[in-house]
Amino acid sequence: MILKSNGNIQYKPSGVDAQKMHCFRCSNRDRSLFHTFLDTYLNKRVTYCLNCINLGRSDSARPLMMIDSKRTKEACSYHLDFSLSEVQQSASKRIVEAVKQGTHILLYAVTGAGKTEITFEAIKYARNSGKRVAFVSPRIDVVKEIHLRLTAAFKNSEIDLMYSGVKVEYTHSFTVCTAHQLYNYIDHFDVIIVDEYDAFPLQGNPQLLNAIDRALSKSGSVVIMTATPTKKMIRYVGRENVVSITRRYHGKDLAVPNVIYTDINKALEKRKTPVKLFDLIRKIQGDKRRVLVFVPRISMLKQLAPVVEKAFENTASVYSADAERYGKVEMMRQDDTDVLLTTTILERGVTFNRLDVIVVQADEFKSDSLIQICGRVGRKTTDPVGNIYFLSSCHTGDIRKTIKVIRQFNRGKTSV
Ligand SMILES: [Zn+2]
Repeated sequence: MILKSNGNIQYKPSGVDAQKMHCFRCSNRDRSLFHTFLDTYLNKRVTYCLNCINLGRSDSARPLMMIDSKRTKEACSYHLDFSLSEVQQSASKRIVEAVKQGTHILLYAVTGAGKTEITFEAIKYARNSGKRVAFVSPRIDVVKEIHLRLTAAFKNSEIDLMYSGVKVEYTHSFTVCTAHQLYNYIDHFDVIIVDEYDAFPLQGNPQLLNAIDRALSKSGSVVIMTATPTKKMIRYVGRENVVSITRRYHGKDLAVPNVIYTDINKALEKRKTPVKLFDLIRKIQGDKRRVLVFVPRISMLKQLAPVVEKAFENTASVYSADAERYGKVEMMRQDDTDVLLTTTILERGVTFNRLDVIVVQADEFKSDSLIQICGRVGRKTTDPVGNIYFLSSCHTGDIRKTIKVIRQFNRGKTSV
């Protein structure tokens, strides 16, 4: 079923139980995430949920309405401009099998493995048998990109697209949306494919993770896709249901990071030139390549950006609350920027040409984040390797783990 304000069936007499402080839409019970005010029109106090406010107000004054929809079969087919490699094909078969059996599955794939296309056969099977499919990611930019790729491949399918503020709705049978949108579905989808399962804000948000289970039908399958699985994810699907892909689609090895010892924090404090960073940028520019410079904190980014911008032309910086964020990323994509300083917001989901990567104060990063960052280079067949530099004041367990995981991938192994 689908919760909808203009639905014709009452699901609950009110969206929020103001006594128990419980939201029936998103299951929020955190008292700090409710707001109560005196509604002068109704002449009573109304409590509403802040946790799912982006989906429209769920409150104590109005009923929670829903619609029921029938499952429909579709003669579903897709087109790809390339054929899947043998490894991709065998992973694809495992996912189809999981969907048939109604079991969960985790696709543990190295960054740049071509994960999305590996799910197409399972989507086709599901839609042909009348199963409802959702392709979900916690990140809006990933959702937009996936929708483009799916509509290009599944030309005859009507694919819903939903994220904060945007709603393209057909029959809710084949849906691409952010994880938050799943709050509106109960026992609805038979297949939920979750890309970037370990990304913010899904990671560490039990309510949002529960929304996946609640939106899933009784015999449904969750397909988790990640380059950095956690023990929890593996427990969720069961170890026997993990499929690994250790090679990128173009078959080349992943670049192994070079660790260079230097303390950029100290250089900034003493207002000294961060010499090793500058040397690297110069070398990269000399090789006619471009670079993403990852910085651990916004405060540090704001200190470092003017220093780098003064020394190098075509430099920009970007962080999550930056109003010009999308424009700046587009300029990097268009080759108009050579050096882009960024926080971890660009650790996932971006592909740029002729790209190298520098991580400043790599000792402040977790290995999951470092693995994603390393995954930004060498994504194109025309430039399949790239260079990665970790600038660090010391060697950490997370740096060691990152290098170990990448070397294992290159040997065709995983630690799972
Ligand atoms: Zn709520």
